[in-house]
Amino acid sequence: METVYIGLGSNLAEPVQQLDAALAALAKLPNTHLLATSAYYSSAPLGPSDQPRYTNAVAELETNLAPHDLLDHLQAIELSQGRQRKAERWGPRTLDLDIILFGLRLLDDERLHVPHYHMHARPFVLLPLAELCPADFQLADGRLLADLLKQCPVDPTLQRLHTPQLCTI
Ligand code: ATP
Ligand code: MG
Ligand code: MG
Repeated sequence: METVYIGLGSNLAEPVQQLDAALAALAKLPNTHLLATSAYYSSAPLGPSDQPRYTNAVAELETNLAPHDLLDHLQAIELSQGRQRKAERWGPRTLDLDIILFGLRLLDDERLHVPHYHMHARPFVLLPLAELCPADFQLADGRLLADLLKQCPVDPTLQRLHTPQLCTI
């Protein structure tokens, strides 16, 4: 089993409910356990600013799935929750599920870049991730989570919301 951190994001069609539903779907993945979830956060959108604010969280899973199989499952969950892929980068979406970290793996191919290539610049990823990891947490590439947190741009509007009830059944 490997420990995986998934970044969740939504800014359309009741984002809190989208994240609740996504966590329930993650808990049902084969060969996988949902171990923990961070609080939900409200964050300013990346990219186009004429879109609603995002709700974000990070989930910790333990899985026997291979990385690309997990990505297939994540994309199926996105689609089942109405995700439409458009040409516009970082446009509004019902659900985004990104693999932030996958055990100690370093992956770089046409479908997967892990650790997530932009995590260092995203407070809505680093803050919830830090809720789930020890203070001295080191990434597979040697970077320290504490350093990423110190160097990350600030979102002055970031708000920590409630912690969802874990649905692991
Ligand atoms: P960003 O990756 O900047 O957060 P995004 O999440 O909006 O942008 P998507 O449209 O969800 O981007 O995904 C585009 C592609 O990114 C996917 O088809 C997938 O193959 C690829 N990808 C690369 N690395 C990852 C990763 N770590 N997690 C999820 N998708 C990834
Ligand atoms: Mg994303
Ligand atoms: Mg994505």
